[in-house]
Amino acid sequence: MKISNKEATRYWNPVLERLPQEKLRALQVKKFKKILSWAFERSKFHRRLYQEAGLEPGDIKTYKDVAKVPKVEKSMMRDIQRKEPFPYGDALCVPLEEVTEFHQTSGTTGVPVYQADSWQDWEWWAEAWATILYAQGYRRKDRVFIPFGYNIFVAFWAGHYAAEKLGCEVIPGGVLDTEARILKMKELKASAMMATPTYVLGMADTARKKLGIEPAGDLNIKKITCAGEPGASIPSTKRRMEEAWGAKVYDHVGATEIGAWGFECLEQPGGLHVNEALFMVQLEDLTTGELIEDSGRRGKIVITALDRMAQPCIRFDSKDVAEWADFFCGCGRTFRIIKGGVIGRTDDITKIKGVLVAPSAIEEVVRSINGLGNEYEVVVSKKGDLDDITLKIELLPGQEGNRQQILRQLQDQLRLKTNLGYHIEVHTINSLPRYDVKAKRFKDLRKVG
Ligand SMILES: [Zn+2]
Repeated sequence: MKISNKEATRYWNPVLERLPQEKLRALQVKKFKKILSWAFERSKFHRRLYQEAGLEPGDIKTYKDVAKVPKVEKSMMRDIQRKEPFPYGDALCVPLEEVTEFHQTSGTTGVPVYQADSWQDWEWWAEAWATILYAQGYRRKDRVFIPFGYNIFVAFWAGHYAAEKLGCEVIPGGVLDTEARILKMKELKASAMMATPTYVLGMADTARKKLGIEPAGDLNIKKITCAGEPGASIPSTKRRMEEAWGAKVYDHVGATEIGAWGFECLEQPGGLHVNEALFMVQLEDLTTGELIEDSGRRGKIVITALDRMAQPCIRFDSKDVAEWADFFCGCGRTFRIIKGGVIGRTDDITKIKGVLVAPSAIEEVVRSINGLGNEYEVVVSKKGDLDDITLKIELLPGQEGNRQQILRQLQDQLRLKTNLGYHIEVHTINSLPRYDVKAKRFKDLRKVG
């Protein structure tokens, strides 16, 4: 492939990011076969899993064959950990002394899973993140502030290394509190940052209330990379963040057990590119499990990290739900797009009064209405035999006179976007729970007990 100088500066990897779809598919199958054999030979866990299914690596020859390979679920990873070698268990494919990185999942859905990476894997993490950051316009001149509590969670660790790899200057905003982070960001004129949407909005609030700093005017942040929550792909939440900071906000998706697999580019096309050079993402029908290749149908994301070697991620059942877009992006990347980002998790997308609802749809409505604060809470419960949804919102100061009009607009939009009626509870500003990093705003009490 011939690549002009101009193209070479648009993409982190101009060859892989513009590879025609059929070549990408062939590359994925080739890499999949390699990682499958690697795990079969070295990991007791994987060999047992495949043998029980009557499968040998040689049985996989085409893209469709991949669906024959058993999926791995998070609960299985927890069982593995009770086995040798300590503390990772028998899915490990390298000797313990080759492990250089320990991380663990947040444990929000149960016991945390430990994840081992070798130095080669860590460089792979940084490469995956470098693709993301470069696509979002990070360059050598950027001074990147990372307001993240550097600890056992992988979160923005690899983003840090990738920004360095790109030649950016990186400021680790580790144990500083929010006010100190904002002041440091201001002093150093940082041009970019990475954080969860909840924290991006919370920081803007703190800047205004505690420091009298208006992020959009007084700070120099021009781009923000989000992770950890779907907010940066929810249009109204994205708009609130962009307005508060006077910056472009880009989404990215990843997970400890998987890697950083999807990203929004400068074009903000209304979805996320899947990095198909490093990952194989397959969507499976939520009920039949059938492979979905066309647009317009939601499916569960089953994902393979094609080059992650120490503790492989092969056909991991992410429980995330997405759908393929029916368009390719104007940026020229050939990587497919999941429309509107990750829609939600199979655990969260729930039937209420017989209607399927993703919590992200409720967030989109609440934050699209002027006069309402950023915080909200949804409580689903049973009243007798019937489902009941209460939506708690905060009215912004000075909006009391518009209360009726705002509530009518909210009910109308909720009905339109989610097909449901809600009990609305109006709270004063700052009275609903605040979250530092990841929020828990959707509570389904029907599931308790
Ligand atoms: Zn693009």
